[in-house]
Amino acid sequence: QVTKKPPPTPSPLRFSKFFQPNMRILVTGGAGFIGSHLVDKLMENEKNEVIVADNFFTGSKDNLKKWIGHPRFELIRHDVTEPLLVEVDQIYHLACPASPIFYKYNPVKTIKTNVIGTLNMLGLAKRVGARILLTSTSEVYGDPLVHPQPESYWGNVNPIGVRSCYDEGKRVAETLMFDYHRQHGIEIRIARIFNTYGPRMNIDDGRVVSNFIAQALRDEPLTVQLPGTQTRSFCYVSDMVDGLIRLMEGEHTGPINIGNPGEFTMLELAETVKELINPNVEIKKVENTPDDPRQRKPDITKAKELLGWEPKIRLRDGLPLMEEDFRLRLGVAKKK
Ligand code: NAD
Ligand code: UDP
Ligand code: UDP
Repeated sequence: QVTKKPPPTPSPLRFSKFFQPNMRILVTGGAGFIGSHLVDKLMENEKNEVIVADNFFTGSKDNLKKWIGHPRFELIRHDVTEPLLVEVDQIYHLACPASPIFYKYNPVKTIKTNVIGTLNMLGLAKRVGARILLTSTSEVYGDPLVHPQPESYWGNVNPIGVRSCYDEGKRVAETLMFDYHRQHGIEIRIARIFNTYGPRMNIDDGRVVSNFIAQALRDEPLTVQLPGTQTRSFCYVSDMVDGLIRLMEGEHTGPINIGNPGEFTMLELAETVKELINPNVEIKKVENTPDDPRQRKPDITKAKELLGWEPKIRLRDGLPLMEEDFRLRLGVAKKK
């Protein structure tokens, strides 16, 4: 909900003799999939200086190689669960593994990243008077009992399950954001991101779109987890980045859903990948993991009304762009 806005606290550096008109932007998790695309977009603006803080758990320097050495860019190896002292005007706080395989690998670390990491970035925002945007997730709705999910829905989340380090972690992160906003007047923005796909996703990170594309290119069966009728709504990464920047630059705290409302069952997704990438590939049903949400689709009324944002790229148009990137990285040429 949008609460009464406190007066903005300008960064003290704005008044120093070192005053620079450039916007200094911290992107935590900027070496990851969404973060690196966000950095590309921010760096297009010559008034922006970008600092990335990342511990390289799931991200990689490779994603940022075109910016390394650029005078407006800086990359810091840093874990957000430790305090960070930098002087910035805006913070995009993305640091957190997003794929179930990685966030379940060390669940205690995942919840520390969400809770202590967000607390540290809020402490930093408070000290320097920066505006901070958190990339929360559609997982805060859990296995939703309302469909599609509006921001007003409080969710159906298991607090003690194997996904809780991630979804409950993000819920606490949202709580911290609002408490710092109400108590300390910090300018906050919360995006609830729905499933996002595109170039630079980790090839073996276990998420469904990257799995299916890699499997199709390797001539391996597409592994549809049972029952296959569960749904997701997939947003292409350039649309996501536009939405995040609009939210940061706009006047609304959120939370605001950012996602593509086009909804597909996992069987439909497999059929589409098969049709577009490898018509000969087999589709195989495999066991699922616990607490898998049965359906998920964003209600994006708020993003449309408050940010003037809606996604432009349909799944059918986005998949081939990702295929191209995966072919290059896997070294699989297109058959003539
Ligand atoms: P990603 O795993 O590619 O990127 C996360 C980045 O954070 C990586 O570069 C990783 O090294 C870094 N990181 C992880 N823990 C860290 C720590 N303790 N300190 C510093 N850096 C750390 O994931 P992504 O898909 O780019 O997701 C980015 C953000 O968007 C995450 O906050 C995620 O929860 C959110 N999100 C993503 C999706 C999606 O579909 N991709 C959906 C909902 C929410
Ligand atoms: N913090 C940080 N960078 C800063 C300022 C604070 O990482 O520039 C961390 C700090 O270490 C603390 C957290 O942010 O753990 C919360 O800071 P806050 O000032 O809100 O709380 P306090 O330090 O009073 O507990
Ligand atoms: N999934 C699948 N095959 C795979 C990987 C995932 O059918 O190889 C399914 C999974 O059961 C879930 C959906 O795809 O229903 C999305 O899973 P993902 O891990 O990509 O994202 P999340 O569960 O976080 O939405």
